[in-house]
Amino acid sequence: MAPQGGRRVPVLLPYPFPGPFDYRVPRDLDPRPGDVVLVPLNRREEVGVVWDGPPDHAVGDNRLKPIAAILDAPPMREDIRRLVDWVANYTLAPPGDVLNMALRINALRPDAPPVGWCLADPLPENRLTEPRKRVLAALAERQPRGSPELMQAAGVSAAVIRAMADAGLLLPAPLPVEPPFARPDPDHPGPVLSPDQQAAAAALREAAAAREFSVTLLDGVTGSGKTEVYLEAVAECLRQGRQALVLLPEIALSSQWLSRFQRRFGVAPAIWHSDLTSRVRRTTWRAVAAGQAPVVVGARSALFLPFPDLGLVVIDEEHETAFKQEDGVVYHARDMAIVRARLCEAPAVLVSATPSLETVANVEAGRYRRLHLPDRHGGASLPEIALIDLRDTPPERGHFLAPPLVEQINATLARGEQAMLFLNRRGYAPLTLCRTCGHRMQCPNCTAWLVEHRARRQLQCHHCGHSIPIPVACPACGAEHSLTPVGPGVERITEEAQATFPQARLLVMASDTLPGPNAAAEAARAIEDREVDLIIGTQIVAKGWHFPHLTLVGVVDADLGLAGGDLRAAERTVQLLHQVSGRAGRAEAPGRVLLQTFSPEHPVMQALLHGDLETFMAREAAQRRPGNWPPYGRLAALIVSADSADAADIAARDLGRAAPHGDGITVLGPAPAPLAILRGRHRRRLLLKTRRDIAVQPLLRAWLAAVPTRSTVRVDVDVDPVSF
Ligand code: ADP
Ligand code: ZN
Repeated sequence: MAPQGGRRVPVLLPYPFPGPFDYRVPRDLDPRPGDVVLVPLNRREEVGVVWDGPPDHAVGDNRLKPIAAILDAPPMREDIRRLVDWVANYTLAPPGDVLNMALRINALRPDAPPVGWCLADPLPENRLTEPRKRVLAALAERQPRGSPELMQAAGVSAAVIRAMADAGLLLPAPLPVEPPFARPDPDHPGPVLSPDQQAAAAALREAAAAREFSVTLLDGVTGSGKTEVYLEAVAECLRQGRQALVLLPEIALSSQWLSRFQRRFGVAPAIWHSDLTSRVRRTTWRAVAAGQAPVVVGARSALFLPFPDLGLVVIDEEHETAFKQEDGVVYHARDMAIVRARLCEAPAVLVSATPSLETVANVEAGRYRRLHLPDRHGGASLPEIALIDLRDTPPERGHFLAPPLVEQINATLARGEQAMLFLNRRGYAPLTLCRTCGHRMQCPNCTAWLVEHRARRQLQCHHCGHSIPIPVACPACGAEHSLTPVGPGVERITEEAQATFPQARLLVMASDTLPGPNAAAEAARAIEDREVDLIIGTQIVAKGWHFPHLTLVGVVDADLGLAGGDLRAAERTVQLLHQVSGRAGRAEAPGRVLLQTFSPEHPVMQALLHGDLETFMAREAAQRRPGNWPPYGRLAALIVSADSADAADIAARDLGRAAPHGDGITVLGPAPAPLAILRGRHRRRLLLKTRRDIAVQPLLRAWLAAVPTRSTVRVDVDVDPVSF
């Protein structure tokens, strides 16, 4: 037998395998955990990471493949490897899928260093024309310069430079690489803080200086200066020479946030989100890894950036469900950010005017500390909130804005102030109905109505993207011109506003009318510069914006989020409407908020009306505690899907029969999932609910292992679902 054995190491690959695979270590290589390596996999070479722990010996020595190379890339840090393991373990996602988020494959292969020109030394004999002399003069300082710069400095064409290189007068030379992100200056003068702000800032500075893990909730009404306060924690982190990460739920928010940052620190931070070009992504990733990006502001995936010395993690608007990633690896960026902070021994700061019940419960249990800013900055008062009972004062037929709201908007516009109409629904109308036969236009792939988008002359499914031209005749009964839009979307409200306020300059803000951060930034600028009188928006307008001239907010349908059986609907509605209300009256002029509702006595409306969120949250807590609903118990959802209803039912029932049981463990379902059909797949849901002291992951693992897998059936796991 040929000599076998030798060293083997586990290598994790960015694919949904159950774990790392062993590879053989060739004699000339010495891979360590974290090294980025090239390994053979199914006749290809793939990038992977040498993982920790002992090899699993699942493959015999004779079939073991060798590592092909160790790449010249920054090794994956131990804290990120632990984060990958942690996320995989917590969410039950395959570790390779989590690794894939952490590994920006395209950033791993090093760029060729940029090349410019320097003078040959000694210079060969040559006839020097005037242009050539100018090139020599431009390089006299011996600093290499790139071609474009040299062409400009010497006023010559590329051909001159090429000819000089051919003649041996110019030699290629690497250009110095400048750090792409300037160091923010922590001592750049910031605003003078009020005593309350000062106290909170001091506590956060202390947390940042302690260089140890802690979690602090910074809460306070909208406009109380939470951002200014946590920027002081960022400043302290910079003084400590460590890096800071600020997570925002919506990258559209970032334009105003960036100018705030710029004002406070004199320079811009690094930005991280999924829309970056691959070049920017690569530069940023490498700068972070090299410790040359002192502050990163980003969306949830920024959590996996390779900070060598992360000293602070801020999660702004921590209550936002946008932090939950729903596709691929299903994880909550807020919770994983806290894990990351713990692994780096850094403080985490959760920021919100309307903290989630999870966070409130953690404060009450003494796990997090709380800093509170009681007042709006600069004496600005909180907006005055009033309800419009749509049963008493209905809008005119075919309209959606009730007379008191129209009146208030007119008065606001007459004073030269700005108003905003909020409706969390894109498109023209959520339902198209045939007046003749009652047929409803439904998505063929989903349990959902098709939403009319009139500007695009389409009916669209907001779940799968299916779209059709708006039909002339009803597909069920054939009646022509009988299809009617039912209910409003922002497009329809815009149409009504144009007719009702013909003089007003309107701006629509929705994710489909403002694609990307630049469009949102431009919209924000237009609003700040008073080029707009009336803003009509979906939830994109709710979050974080500071519009000093906006004094009236009208919520077209305050009841919208309350429909459906979701236990969390009330909490989310309160948070969203409170955030929207917070856009009004952020400067000297007082703000007003009008909520149109059919249920003014609903606890959500009463809490908003009286500005008493604490009582509301206490009531929510009291409802969830007895049944061990989150955050007082643990919850995981299993979504079973198949391409027929029967197959989904059978698989869900099989799963139900194998459900875990025991003291403090409850399984609910199977029942139709909230979207019973999605993209043509029939979905059933089972919920596993346990007491807080029982971890759901081992139960889920044993459960899933106990039922046979069928290739046509999928089971998706969602630990801590955001709706239930
Ligand atoms: P929040 O994050 O709590 O909504 P912000 O930090 O956005 O509040 O503050 C609201 C507005 O008040 C911002 O324009 C901010 O620059 C301003 N502001 C807050 N505190 C101060 C201060 N101490 N001095 C000057 N301006 C402040
Ligand atoms: Zn659909």
